[in-house]
Amino acid sequence: MSMSRRRLLGHAAVATAALATLPALAGDKDQGKAIGPATATSTATPAAAPAATGGPFSLMALPYADTDLAPVISQGTIGFHYGKHHLGYVNKLNELVAGKDWEKKSLADCMKGTYGTDNVGIYNNSAQTWNHDFYWQSLKKAGGGACPTGKLADAIKAAFGDQAGFATELAKAATGQFGSGWAWLVAKDGKLSVAKTSNADNPVVLNVGTPLLVIDVWEHAYYLDYQNKRSDYVAAVIDKLLNWDFAIKNFG
Ligand code: MN
Repeated sequence: MSMSRRRLLGHAAVATAALATLPALAGDKDQGKAIGPATATSTATPAAAPAATGGPFSLMALPYADTDLAPVISQGTIGFHYGKHHLGYVNKLNELVAGKDWEKKSLADCMKGTYGTDNVGIYNNSAQTWNHDFYWQSLKKAGGGACPTGKLADAIKAAFGDQAGFATELAKAATGQFGSGWAWLVAKDGKLSVAKTSNADNPVVLNVGTPLLVIDVWEHAYYLDYQNKRSDYVAAVIDKLLNWDFAIKNFG
């Protein structure tokens, strides 16, 4: 068992206690600008963003309550994934940009400007912050299933044959990504494709198109709920959580 795996499993037992320490729920004014469209099916109050330690970058507020994605993604997983891992990337990024020109730039400009350079720390932490902002918005309570009819549904049919063909391709990319990474639905010149990326990489820095949806396949995204069964996590996310409203907005 790897060190990180052992540490992750050790944390599972204290998930409930850790969640109890999250700050009180924030009002609308605190919800942040990176949030996707509100979900019509979500009735619970959005989860508050734990405070970042300070600096130009902040942890986006989740556009739903931390219980809304259960049972596909448990409150415990969100407590660690959002409240520890995502927050950790934001805090580390703030620490790394302090006193440098990067602290005046946008998150996207930080990741694009450091990609492929020896500024690996700022790249990894800015890209991971961006990816997680995108991931939380790619999910919603009672999502998943077929894309609603319209331009994006037509493009899915053109690229994958039908909705089931899309689901198969996305699941293949998500389960086939070796090690940590991400599986994306991407649009380029109106045509859709599925892409998988490693570690912090994403379609924006790789310049392979506009991301529409993403599934995080780092072990921290599913290990508490599914252990080694990544394919079960992926299938459940595709079937029950994908946020087609967000994909449609991104497709334009
Ligand atoms: Mn993650």
